[in-house]
Amino acid sequence: MRTDAVSAKKEHPKLTEHEYRFCPRCGTALVRQFRHGRVRPVCPACGYIQYLNPAPAVAVVLLQGNDVLLVRRRYSPRKGYWSLPAGFVEWDEDIRTAAVREVKEETNCDVEVGEVLGAFSAFDDPRTHVVLIVFAGKLKAGSLRAGDDATEARFFPLDALPEDMAFAVHRQVLEEVRDRRKNAAAEQQSEVFCETESTNG
Ligand SMILES: [Zn+2]
Repeated sequence: MRTDAVSAKKEHPKLTEHEYRFCPRCGTALVRQFRHGRVRPVCPACGYIQYLNPAPAVAVVLLQGNDVLLVRRRYSPRKGYWSLPAGFVEWDEDIRTAAVREVKEETNCDVEVGEVLGAFSAFDDPRTHVVLIVFAGKLKAGSLRAGDDATEARFFPLDALPEDMAFAVHRQVLEEVRDRRKNAAAEQQSEVFCETESTNG
C-alpha cells in the first residue's frame, strides 16, 4: 500500500468558498478568527468553529483478466466521464461497507472488497478535497447493469483506458495496477528463463 501526499493537480475551489457565512447551529453571522493553528469561521454567539476537512471516499478496482470495470458518470461533476465505481462514505458506514454499496448501486454487482491498493489526496473534485481509499475487489455475483449515478458500466483493458477519465487518481492507480501486473509477469518469465537456464546448464 502506498500513500501520496499530492497525487493530483491542486485545482479544487479555494477553502474560503466552502466556509459558512452563518452559524449552522444558531444562525449568527460567523467571524474569522485564528483557532487551532489557522484562521477559521467562528460563531461569536455559541462558539461553533467550522473545521474544513477532506471528505473520505472509496473506489474499487475490479479486474477480469487484464480488464477493469469502469462506470460512466450520470451526474456532474465530470458528467459523461469514466471512473472507477466510487463514492463518498456515509457518516454511519464502515469504509468497506461503503465500497460494497457503491459497486452494487453503480454496477448491480456484488463484490468482496480486498486489500487497499492505495490512499490518495485527490484535489481535482470540484465539490471538495477528497481522500480516496482504493480497494481491490472481487466480483461475486450479479449481472452487470449500470445503475444509480452511472449511465454505463463496462470493462476496459488496463492498456487502453478511456481518454476521458473523470479523476486523475483513478487513472493513476490503474496505471500502477497495470505496471505491477506487467512487472510480476516479467519476473515470472525471467524465473522460468532462469530455471530453463539452470536445467540446461
Ligand atoms: Zn452559533
